[in-house]
Amino acid sequence: MSFELPALKYNTDSLEPHIDTRTMEIHHGKHHAGYTNNLNNAIKGTDLESSSIENILTGLDLNNSAVRNNGGGFFNHSLFWNIMSPNGGGEPSGELASAIESSFGSFAEFKTLFSKAAGTRFGSGWAWLCVHKGGKLEVCSTANQDNPLMNGIGCGGYPILGLDVWEHAYYLNYQNRRPDYVSGFFNVINWDEVSKRFNEKA
Ligand code: MN
Repeated sequence: MSFELPALKYNTDSLEPHIDTRTMEIHHGKHHAGYTNNLNNAIKGTDLESSSIENILTGLDLNNSAVRNNGGGFFNHSLFWNIMSPNGGGEPSGELASAIESSFGSFAEFKTLFSKAAGTRFGSGWAWLCVHKGGKLEVCSTANQDNPLMNGIGCGGYPILGLDVWEHAYYLNYQNRRPDYVSGFFNVINWDEVSKRFNEKA
């Protein structure tokens, strides 16, 4: 079995002006496609060929850099497209909203903490909102294409929201202004999808 690049659920121009069309085209069509192809090449002929991507990442040997980088890249971007929507933004409701309040104090405090995690990740990486069994939430960040499913990465729980802070994710539109990109991202977060992921794993 091989992994396939998932189709976007919206058009490449749908997240304008927060995420520009050209960035979406290159990011999905070139970067994510590249991670997908390289992952398939890395697992070809190995036991990992019959595993789900989540099982591959939770059982990953961190020394296996081809699977670490490309399996991470495949999973992270698949999540990223789904937690954004042209109808996104605003704040979550229901159980996720309550969990954010009990874990961070308020949505505003969560937003500050998440933006700081995204803004202070030096070089390339991701910022995450993760849920632990029982519903406790955690904000963290990882380098490169690592993610919280990988053991020993210093970031735990199940990722329900992720933000790509590699320069390829924002440079065409925002250049060096990563904080503006992070702020724009909050206008396209698909909280219905994040809530769904929360409810599945809490
Ligand atoms: Mn990316």
